[in-house]
Amino acid sequence: MGDVKIGDHMKIPVHSIFHQEAGHSGKVVYISEDGNIVTVKCDRKHGGKTVAFNIQLEEEEEY
Ligand SMILES: [Zn+2]
Repeated sequence: MGDVKIGDHMKIPVHSIFHQEAGHSGKVVYISEDGNIVTVKCDRKHGGKTVAFNIQLEEEEEY
């Protein structure tokens, strides 16, 4: 916790519903107060739209 800052780039993990494409990364646009959840805006368009995803940092350590 605390290592991620707004504006950082990070990989977006594959999510079965919200983010099905692997290998995307994006920019951190929001960090929750406890620092466990960040919102990352994907660099790539999804169906022509810019989308943002909530990522739970604790889960990312399992990769
Ligand atoms: Zn994406």
